[in-house]
Formats: sequence, C-alpha cells, structure tokens
Amino acid sequence: MILSAYAELDLAAVTHNLARIRTFAPKAKIMAVIKANAYGHGLIRIAKTLTDVDAFAVARLGEGIALRDAGIRQRIAVLQGFVDREELELHIRYGLEPVIHSPTQVELLEQIASTEPVSVWLKLDTGMHRLGLLADEFASCYSRLQSCRTVRQPIPVMTHLANADVLQDAITGKQLDCFKSTLHDIHTECSIANSAGLLAWDAARVEWVRPGIALYGVSPFDGRTGPDEGLKSVMTFRSRLIAIKNLDAGDAVGYGGDWICPRPTRLGIVSVGYGDGYPRHAQSGTPVLVCGRRVYLVGRVSMDMISLDLTDCPDARVGDEVTLWGKGLPIEEIASHASTIPYALLCGVTPRVKMVERWE
Ligand SMILES: *Cc1c(COP(=O)(O)O)cnc(C)c1O
Repeated sequence: MILSAYAELDLAAVTHNLARIRTFAPKAKIMAVIKANAYGHGLIRIAKTLTDVDAFAVARLGEGIALRDAGIRQRIAVLQGFVDREELELHIRYGLEPVIHSPTQVELLEQIASTEPVSVWLKLDTGMHRLGLLADEFASCYSRLQSCRTVRQPIPVMTHLANADVLQDAITGKQLDCFKSTLHDIHTECSIANSAGLLAWDAARVEWVRPGIALYGVSPFDGRTGPDEGLKSVMTFRSRLIAIKNLDAGDAVGYGGDWICPRPTRLGIVSVGYGDGYPRHAQSGTPVLVCGRRVYLVGRVSMDMISLDLTDCPDARVGDEVTLWGKGLPIEEIASHASTIPYALLCGVTPRVKMVERWE
C-alpha cells in the first residue's frame, strides 16, 4: 500500500535515548513515562521496546490495564490513582501501583481488606498545585499509610516539578526545598525529576527519575532540540507531494486566501493536514523538508492538505517524500511556528496516520 501521511518510528532511538538519560542519573532507577499512548508513539510498542526500565508510569487506570492485558510485567505506577473503591480494587487486581495524592484515597485504602498488600506511591504537592498532598497534610497521611495493613512498606514518595524547564527559575529550588523539609525525618525511596529535572537539576536526581519527553528524543527546554541534548528523535512524520502547479504573482492560496503569491510561484500540495495531527495553527513560513531541502508552508493548513512554496525547489516532483517533523527537521521548531509544544504535536497525531516501525 502507498502511504500518504505516516509516522516512521525509530525504535533504536528509544533505546539510545534511554541510555543517554542514564548518563545523567547513572544510579537512579527509571520510571519511563508512557502516558497518552506513549506520547503518541504507541503504548504497547514503546513498553515492549523499553525492556529494561524499572517501572512504567501511565496517567490513568485504563492505560495500566491495557499494559497488563498485553503481557507487560514491569511495575506500573498510575499517576492519577483511583477515585473510588472499585477503581482501587482494579489496581489491586491488575497489580498496578496507584499514586496516592489525597486524604480521600488514604481513607479508601484503610477501608479495604486485601490479602495481597498493595504497592502505592505517595505524592507531595511541593508547589505545582495540581495533584499531591499539601505539606501540612503529608505527615499524617504518611503515618496512616504506614499503619495500614493493606499497604506495602516502605512507601515511596514523589513530587512533580512545575518549572524545571526554565533554568533560571526560582520555583524549582523552592520545590526542592519544600520536598526536603517535608520529608526531613522520613527515609524512603523518592522520585522528583521529569525529563527537564533530570537533564538540568542535580538535586532532583534521586532514587527514581521519571523521564517522558526525552525518551522520545525531544528536548524539554525552550530554544533547544533533542540532538542538542544528545537525544535522537523517534518519530518522523512524513507524507508526499500529490500536486504541483504554477501560479502568478497575486494569486491567493488556500482557505480564506490569506496567502498571496508574492512572485510567480511553484506551489506544492502535500497530503497531510490537521486531520492527521499536523497543527492547524502552523503559520506560513513553517519549514517542511522536500527531498531533504527546506521549503516553507504557505496558506492555511486544511484537514487533509497543506501547501508549500516550491519555487526554490525546481526538481521536486509529484510523489516525492515530504518530512513534516523528525529526522532532519526538529519537532521543537515546528511547535514554535505553530504556537504549541512538541508534547501536543506528538500526542495529536491521529489514528488515520499509520505507524511504521524501524530499527535503524
Ligand atoms: C508527564 C509526567 C512526567 C514526564 O514528564 P516529561 O516532561 O515528559 O519528562 C513525569 N512525572 C509526572 C507526574 C508526569 O505527569
């Protein structure tokens, strides 16, 4: 079959990235974050590629169950945990480790009778103010869980950094201080760092690290790219040219006609659009690779197509391969042209796009 929009996944790059991540925190255990369909790369595929991580993290119970149903045996933390008894029992049945972030969850754990002790993670809110126990409720919840017969001891503790990608920001230092002072007399395994934390913040490299975006070869830092961090991009999003036409200066292109040819223009039409997850807000001037050469998006992105100015690429032909992001064209650059972030681009690739695995 001839593929229009497809995503080439270089699985060898995943193992390269994992090895690169380990150089930053050689002694730390790795909890690979594979939520949201492994950032759009395929939950089971990526779990099966990361054979030697110490644990996985997913956002939701359903993702954990899907991993178990696919035969994944590693430890799996469920970052959002459970909201009621039924969900707690499913965590136990599937051997999933819920993150406990509220006193209500502690109560539910106290109420159930389980023959198998359940492994949990306790989350402290050090300033992100999303999930996690506030510092003043932490000690009491921790000691309640310590005396809870159904909970496996010792209980590991985690927190999440809100601004680790901003290197000069004071918030990360404050979060690290809050973590340290709240846990001052508690000795257990801890986990603080996401990708930015583990690449940039020495004090965040504790017993466990939780890389997500770096595994997929993307830099968490503004203005930098995966290769700048020694990472290799995993997903290369490609399609092909399906039409080429010559327009006159002054002709309008696409919906709204808001791009006007400034000169006689050789226009290329590519079979990819927001229906595939190419960002609708990518502006005219967003780079695209045709035959390895940089050309530029012009006009609005439509559902199934985009237009390119091929005037300076006279040898491009219908059927030629086009790269939207990935190898040779950093996704970080596309994200900034579309006023979004690489995470959202990766997660936004739609089911119409076929995933093609490669080991390069
Ligand atoms: C998503 C997430 C991570 C991974 O973040 P990256 O920036 O992708 O490395 C780590 N920890 C938690 C709690 C998360 O929600």
